[in-house]
Amino acid sequence: MVKAAVIGAGLGGLSAAIMLRSAGFEVTVIEKNFHAGGKLMPVSLGDYHFDFGPNTITMPHVFSSVFEKAGVVMEDVLEFIKLPHHTKNFSPDGTELVFSHDSDYMKKQLKEQDPFGAENYDKFLKEIERLYRLSEAHFFPKMFKGPLDYLSPRLGAAFSQVRPLETMDHFFRRYFKSPNVLQALNRYATYIGSSPYVSPATFAMIAYLELVQGVYYVKGGNVKIAEALQRAASDMGVSFLMGSEVVSIQVKEKRAESLTLDSGEVIKADEFIMNADLLKAFPELVQEDDRPHFSDQKRDRYEPSISAFVILAGMNNISKKLHHHNVFFSSNYQREFHDLFKNGVYSTQPTIYISSSSYTDRQQSVNGDNLFILVNAPPLKKDGRLQVNPEEYKELIYDRLEAAGLPIREHLSVEKVITPQEIAAKFGAYRGALYGISANRKLDAFLRPGNFSRDIKNLSFAGGSTHPGGGSPMVTISGMNVAKALIKRHQ
Ligand SMILES: Cc1cc2nc3c(=O)[nH]c(=O)nc-3n(C[C@H](O)[C@H](O)[C@H](O)COP(=O)(O)OP(=O)(O)OC[C@H]3O[C@@H](n4cnc5c(N)ncnc54)[C@H](O)[C@@H]3O)c2cc1C
Repeated sequence: MVKAAVIGAGLGGLSAAIMLRSAGFEVTVIEKNFHAGGKLMPVSLGDYHFDFGPNTITMPHVFSSVFEKAGVVMEDVLEFIKLPHHTKNFSPDGTELVFSHDSDYMKKQLKEQDPFGAENYDKFLKEIERLYRLSEAHFFPKMFKGPLDYLSPRLGAAFSQVRPLETMDHFFRRYFKSPNVLQALNRYATYIGSSPYVSPATFAMIAYLELVQGVYYVKGGNVKIAEALQRAASDMGVSFLMGSEVVSIQVKEKRAESLTLDSGEVIKADEFIMNADLLKAFPELVQEDDRPHFSDQKRDRYEPSISAFVILAGMNNISKKLHHHNVFFSSNYQREFHDLFKNGVYSTQPTIYISSSSYTDRQQSVNGDNLFILVNAPPLKKDGRLQVNPEEYKELIYDRLEAAGLPIREHLSVEKVITPQEIAAKFGAYRGALYGISANRKLDAFLRPGNFSRDIKNLSFAGGSTHPGGGSPMVTISGMNVAKALIKRHQ
């Protein structure tokens, strides 16, 4: 039986483990934390339950296809709720625009706020669907082993059709005129940890996911997805070593032979799948001599995606103002991204995202709202320094919310601040990045490190820093893609 060792029980690691097990591999998953799901992590503060990490879930069919491999019908174990009108966008001038997959509902609002956009809306939906379909056909299932893969004529033809050289902001301006509407759409760049003023228009396809396919929430918390995947994997015979950190990988003649845990235990395997953030784990676990194509210097050239400054706030009231997903926009979005990416500093006028899952699922916090408050943060400096005083920044966020009509302090029951430093330490995320690598230079989105080590024959990568990219559905696809290739290798 082929032995596979998966480093990390993030969504990418879980999906790879299930696929490999379904093909008869003997699979061991090693995870340094005690929960499966990686950044999709449950946090409870007293009676308040939060999803840390993915609050916005799209593409449930991706998770469903993994469950299928485990012989589990997803609907039997998880209740995916499609949110009818999912995100309330609050503009600085007081305008409110609620995003929905219902195009009539959208057009009705646009007629008031952006008549040009209302007229173009159907055309816009058609174009973002085209971008999505091309990506689905050519980029999601594709594995990139090395630079030559980018030169395939079919891929080249597809690539030229997904507007790789136009920015997202420029693309949205073709269809909409209202600055508020443009700002709300431009926020989709942050889903890949990037700026709309530089990242390719290709990623406007994210709008297709939310404005056509819809936004989902899993009853009991999105963390239930990871819990159910781990259960399904265990039931198939996947072994989990939770609370065990891999500290090194031993390489001989371009093959990984074994890995060593923090306990000193050595585990041998035929295939090693690194779900841990490769930008951090690969250089840390493998000696530099054994990875000439991925030197420390090469790693340093990658620009990490944005990080996050998060406050979990349990409230003693239920706000009438809030929806499930909410965004309080800053008055100067361009400046905010300039601060984040060019200057590497925290914005003093940040856009603030709030998820209140108790809006949909009261059982998550019966005594009041469970607010997951997130502000985009620059990645940590190379020396790991945090560029802000967390207590002061938290107060600034509360001040801004109060000014926008959402008083927090007077209704707070419990709170917890989670900084990029904690994200880096807890999940082994390179410089605290949420989505691995940013797509801020035109081709970066497409030129991520490949799914297979070029130096070590039996080491592959699955997760946010490799293909097809960050975000919960993409990393799940990444794990499946890698597993499929390994299954083929051992047929
Ligand atoms: C605050 C926040 C908000 C987000 N919001 C969204 C959202 O709304 N929607 C969305 O789709 N995505 C969102 N994301 C992004 C999403 O969470 C990630 O893209 C995705 O979960 C990453 O999955 P992964 O498989 O790459 O690995 P990870 O989740 O990073 O898991 C990797 C695992 O490897 C483990 N590990 C690392 N090193 C070692 C080692 N040496 N030994 C053993 N184990 C190790 C880590 O502990 C971790 O469990 C968000 C992320 C964060 C942090």
